[in-house]
Amino acid sequence: MPRTVAVVGAGPAGLVAARELLRAGLDVAVFEKSARTGGTWAYDPRADADPLGRDPAAPGAVHGSLYASLRTNLPRELMGFSDFPLAGRVFAGDARAFPGHREVLAFLDAFAEESGVAARVRLRAEVLRVRPLGQGQRERWVVAWRGEDGEVAEEVFDAVVVCNGHWTVPQVAEIRGIDNWRGKQMHSHNYRVPEPFRDQNVVVVGMGASGTDIALEVSHVAKEVHIATRYSDRLGKVGLRKNVWIHTEVDCIQDDGKIRFTDGSAVAADSILYCTGYHYHFPFLDLDGLAIDDNRVGPLYNHVFPPKYAPNLSFIGLPLKTIVFQSVELESKWVAAVLSGRSTLPGEEDMMAAVREHYRQMEEAGRPKRHTHVIMPNWEEHLNWLADQVGEPRLEAARLEMLEKAFWCAWSMDEGYRDRWEQEDDSGTSSL
Ligand SMILES: Cc1cc2nc3c(=O)[nH]c(=O)nc-3n(C[C@H](O)[C@H](O)[C@H](O)COP(=O)(O)OP(=O)(O)OC[C@H]3O[C@@H](n4cnc5c(N)ncnc54)[C@H](O)[C@@H]3O)c2cc1C
Repeated sequence: MPRTVAVVGAGPAGLVAARELLRAGLDVAVFEKSARTGGTWAYDPRADADPLGRDPAAPGAVHGSLYASLRTNLPRELMGFSDFPLAGRVFAGDARAFPGHREVLAFLDAFAEESGVAARVRLRAEVLRVRPLGQGQRERWVVAWRGEDGEVAEEVFDAVVVCNGHWTVPQVAEIRGIDNWRGKQMHSHNYRVPEPFRDQNVVVVGMGASGTDIALEVSHVAKEVHIATRYSDRLGKVGLRKNVWIHTEVDCIQDDGKIRFTDGSAVAADSILYCTGYHYHFPFLDLDGLAIDDNRVGPLYNHVFPPKYAPNLSFIGLPLKTIVFQSVELESKWVAAVLSGRSTLPGEEDMMAAVREHYRQMEEAGRPKRHTHVIMPNWEEHLNWLADQVGEPRLEAARLEMLEKAFWCAWSMDEGYRDRWEQEDDSGTSSL
């Protein structure tokens, strides 16, 4: 049975993973490349030198992708851990239903301290390489890491849990004719404040939760904001906004430099702001039989264990569009249960069969490969499956309802939903 475990990353996933591993009696070391814990929630006002952030290995590349004004897009009830809630408590003076990033970071700091995990974190310790100790081995792993003094050290662990986050390496839409573009381009990874877009015409590509928030924030200073999306059925000018339009996808940059949408309309713009998501990226892993293909990390048994290397190598936090904190906590409990022998995994062939079945179902449903880790709309099934592995309670109906409502609100182009959430509760107009 494994005794020593290396956790890569001290964001929410790494912190809760470490807590669960400690609880299971394992000896844990958490490697965190930055100067503090909290991961994404440690707002970083810096941006990459390249506004498109194309080279994650560039010197000074920034991990965080939060903007200064960011408030959570899930209510605080869905942002805590099961026995360490964010709901009903205030950590940095921000009691709002959808708190700002400082509140979440203060919550995570308190969690790290109270759980005893903080003492296990090595800060400014970047993991450079993770490899099995010997050819064909999966029981012991060598972790090469660089410390604050620049020295590289190697240490052997029984298991490695990868929690390095996946909101850092921009996915930038390829636009036909982009060579004709003379304006500016930025990915939301490097968006911090709206000021650089003052008095500009801006095309925002993508209309996920961040795209919607950023487009609305920019519209307060920009001349015009044009959102390009492949999903919306609400094309045209946005109701109450005087300067925001929703278009179909970007088709190309015309010879005259205008941006043309697939519906044939075109606009002249000063900037393109890509809110087009992120790539999974594990620069410290180069393992036979484990690959990223069109943002599918695989093969992974239920997004966590690569069958060939299970159980001593695992990944936490890959699922997208779910209750992230609940999902990483349940995944952590599962990994801890398996590593401590309280739970067993199926054999390698059976896990591979399950992965193949997942891919087959996706194909049958016409879902693209890049959506492999998108849990929506199968939240209930996925979270309950994890809960069942570790004997935790299943997803409560009220939480599911809250999640569905929050996702719907995030895409509603209604800037005030976060502040009305509780009023609606009180007046009884919402069932939450
Ligand atoms: C704009 C934006 C808004 C969001 N809003 C919400 C929200 O409202 N609610 C929500 O639940 N989630 C939200 N998220 C998702 C958010 O990322 C998760 O809540 C959470 O931070 C994921 O935790 P993580 O630990 O997996 O990754 P991260 O938080 O990214 O932490 C990963 C950590 O690993 C470290 N690391 C990386 N590589 C190495 C290495 N080689 N060696 C050592 N350390 C390493 C990083 O420095 C970092 O500290 C948002 C994300 C973004 C970008």
